Amino acid sequence: MTQRTGKRAVLVAANQPLEIWERPVADPGPGEVLARLTHGGVCGTDVHFWRGEVPLPGPVVLGHEGVAVIEMLGAGVSTDYAGTPVAVGDRVYWQPVAPCQRCYACTVLGDVSMCENAFAGVFGNADGPTTASYCDYATLRAGLPFYRVPDDTPSDAVIALGCALPTMLQGLERLGGIRPGMSVVVQGCGPVGLAATLLAHLSGAAPLVVIGAPARRLAVAQQFGATHTLNVEDLPDPAARAARVRQITGGHGADVVIEAAGVLPAFAEGLQLIARGGRYLIVGLWSAPGTVAVEPRMINNLNLRIIGTALSQPRHLYQALQVVQAHHRRFPLAAAVTHRYRIEDSQQALEAVARLETVKAVIAPAT
Ligand SMILES: [Zn+2]
Ligand SMILES: [Zn+2]
Repeated sequence: MTQRTGKRAVLVAANQPLEIWERPVADPGPGEVLARLTHGGVCGTDVHFWRGEVPLPGPVVLGHEGVAVIEMLGAGVSTDYAGTPVAVGDRVYWQPVAPCQRCYACTVLGDVSMCENAFAGVFGNADGPTTASYCDYATLRAGLPFYRVPDDTPSDAVIALGCALPTMLQGLERLGGIRPGMSVVVQGCGPVGLAATLLAHLSGAAPLVVIGAPARRLAVAQQFGATHTLNVEDLPDPAARAARVRQITGGHGADVVIEAAGVLPAFAEGLQLIARGGRYLIVGLWSAPGTVAVEPRMINNLNLRIIGTALSQPRHLYQALQVVQAHHRRFPLAAAVTHRYRIEDSQQALEAVARLETVKAVIAPAT
């Protein structure tokens, strides 16, 4: 038994500063992997957890986006969850959401992103082994899918879009894809909006309009393929934005609108941006409770389709790695990691993300 300890950033109660706990780190058990974190992605959802907008039974270790180096393999582990051989020193990518394979969603619907028990293990005991990512060591327990990061793929590029990339990959799957030449509007330019922009661009969307702020993130959206950006700070009137979208799309509106703004008014605005027969993918409203006034007959009369999507499935994690491996040289993915923090400074990381100062912030224990 190796003697190890590791730090972890713990959310004890909403709106309280994160606490740094040092705990012993045990060797991995059978089927488990012990991994040393290099990148814990800081996600907007973590800010919602911290503010108590999505209540968590605390205390919990924060972080659900991780890249780490394998420190020890438990008995019986020789490959990742796609059959790729793994060894000590390899980098792995995972999300701490393990499908239970024993619920209606997992076994009858066959869609583990809707698993009723997926979160049970994530928000478990903050004292024991953790699969979270604001920490020195993660213990990837048996049954938690993880994938080896290809050697030619930088960790920064993998973490840059965090959980947003697999989430959007599932979103596009549910949407039914985007044909080359289709007009697309993306509402929002945080990591979810940027992932939507990149994937829409790779699908051949044109024009590809991104609505959001601040300018720094819109500049990244342009690098990821946006043909037009509308800064909501310069153009605060939704009606003016809708008029601009009509103009850009030849008067029709967009064939596809992707909501990645995470704020309620975006939904009503999005309905004003869609073309007849268009589709509206809702990705960002997961942690935005509330109601909004809309005119439902628009859905009827314009033959609209509104599609929701939440979280992702293991195949989308794997596909995210494929997208990053194939395209990280062409698009400045790694450069989207703009802020790095020690575990001790996790609180500052959350606050910087809350102030929208970052494109992507990571907890980087090794630095
Ligand atoms: Zn996330
Ligand atoms: Zn399940």
